[in-house]
Amino acid sequence: MKVIVDEDLCISCGLCMSLCPEVFDWNADDKSQVIVDTVPKEEEDCTREAIDSCPTEAIIEK
Ligand code: SF4
Repeated sequence: MKVIVDEDLCISCGLCMSLCPEVFDWNADDKSQVIVDTVPKEEEDCTREAIDSCPTEAIIEK
């Protein structure tokens, strides 16, 4: 799976990188960014949890 973060929607709550630090990290603007091209299989569960948990639905599966 591939995901992107809509930086305009991200409110920098930190939840996604807390749930799934191998996939999400802060960018220079203190917003979340996706740090992998394709989400590794073993990270898909936490990525889905991050998608479902993001308070502003900023994480979008491509
Ligand atoms: S969970 Fe959503 S709002 Fe919070 S840092 Fe991640 S992308 Fe941004």
